[in-house]
Amino acid sequence: MNFLIVGAGLSGAVLGRELAQAGHKITVIDSRSHVAGNCHTERCPETGVLVHVYGPHIFHTDDVQVWDYVNAFAQFLPYRNRVKSTVGSAVYSLPVNLHTINQFFGKTMRPDAARAFIEETQADTSITDPQSFEEQALRFVGRDLYDAFFRGYTEKQWGCSPTQLPASILKRLPLRFNYDDNYFNHQFQGMPEQGYTAMVEAMLDHPNIDVHLDTAFTPEMEARADHMIWSGPLDSYFNYRLGRLGYRTLDFERFTAEGDYQGCAVMNYGARDVPYTRITEHKHFAPWETHAGTVCYREFARACGPDDIPYYPIRLVEEKALLGEYEALAQANDGVSFVGRLGTYRYLDMDVTIREALDMVPQFLERFGDQTTV
Ligand code: UDP
Repeated sequence: MNFLIVGAGLSGAVLGRELAQAGHKITVIDSRSHVAGNCHTERCPETGVLVHVYGPHIFHTDDVQVWDYVNAFAQFLPYRNRVKSTVGSAVYSLPVNLHTINQFFGKTMRPDAARAFIEETQADTSITDPQSFEEQALRFVGRDLYDAFFRGYTEKQWGCSPTQLPASILKRLPLRFNYDDNYFNHQFQGMPEQGYTAMVEAMLDHPNIDVHLDTAFTPEMEARADHMIWSGPLDSYFNYRLGRLGYRTLDFERFTAEGDYQGCAVMNYGARDVPYTRITEHKHFAPWETHAGTVCYREFARACGPDDIPYYPIRLVEEKALLGEYEALAQANDGVSFVGRLGTYRYLDMDVTIREALDMVPQFLERFGDQTTV
C-alpha cells in the first residue's frame, strides 16, 4: 500500500520505518527543511557545538524495547540531566532534593529529618487528593519551595495560574530526600552522539521510503495515498474549522560566548520578574565534546499564534472540550491516522511517542498487510 506520512518527526519516522520494512511504499513530507521535528539538532558552523534547535531534548525511558530501538539507529552516550535553578541571589539544585531543601532552609538535615520537616512544617496535609498543579505543590513541598521554584516558572511557562493546570504537569518532576540530582527517574538516559536528526535520518533511510522536505501538505497528496498518517496539529488537518487548540510556543534568544557561560546545560529561573524560564547551554548536552566557543538559548514562553511553532499543548478546560470534538472528527475519518504530540494534542515525551508509534504497527499491518509474512 502507499502511505503518506505528514511530518518527519519521531512518530512519522518510526511508523515509516516499520511500515517500509513490512513492504509498504512510504512517502514522508515535512514543511521544514530538515527531519526530526522539534528534536532537530544541528551543528553551529561558528563554534561546532551541536545545538538543540527547538530547545533541549534529553532522551530518557524505562522502556527497554524503546531504548533498544533508538540504539539501533544511533550511538547513544550516557548523559545525566542535572538542572540548576537561580532564585534571587542563590543557585539551587533541581529537582527538589536533599541539597535543595537543606540549602533553602539553611539546615543540615539527613533524609528522615528532611522528610519529617517537609511533611510536618511545610506540606499542606489538608489537601488529600491534589487536582491542580498548585495543590500538588502545596501538598508535597509546601508554600515556600513552591513560591521559589514552581509558581513563577509555571506562570511564565504556561501563561496561567498553576491553580488552573493539572497536577500531572508537576508529577513529571521527582521530589527526593537524598542527594540524587538526576532530573529523571528513568533507568535509561542518554544523548545520541551525532544528534537526533542523524538518528531520524537513519530511521528514514530505507529503499521503500521517500522523504520530501520543504513540502507543504495538499489534499491532492492525500487523495493519491491509500492511507495517511498525520503527525501535524490535529486541528490544522481540519482547517481549524471548530476553532484553534491552544498551545504555548517558545522564543529562543540565541547568543554565543567564549568558554563556559554558565557551567551547566540547563539553568532555570524561578522568579516571575526574570522574563525567561531558562537558559540552555548546548555544549553541556555533549560533555564528551570540546569547543572553545559556546551557544546558549534564553527561553521565553508565550501563547502560540497562527504563524508560530506549537510546542506545548495547554489542555485547559476549553481545550479539552474542543479536543473532544476534534477527536470525534478524527475517529470518523477512516483514511487518516492521527499520531504524536501534535496529532493527538498531548504533552508526550520522546520515549512515549516512540512507544505509541511502535504499538500502532500491528494494527496497521493487520489492516494493510505485512509483506514480510506472505
Ligand atoms: N517547573 C517549574 N520550575 C522548574 C522546572 C519545572 O515550575 O524549575 C514546572 C513547570 O510548570 C514545567 C513543569 O514543571 O512546565 C515540567 O517541567 P519539565 O522540566 O518536565 O518541562 P520541559 O522540559 O518539558 O519543558
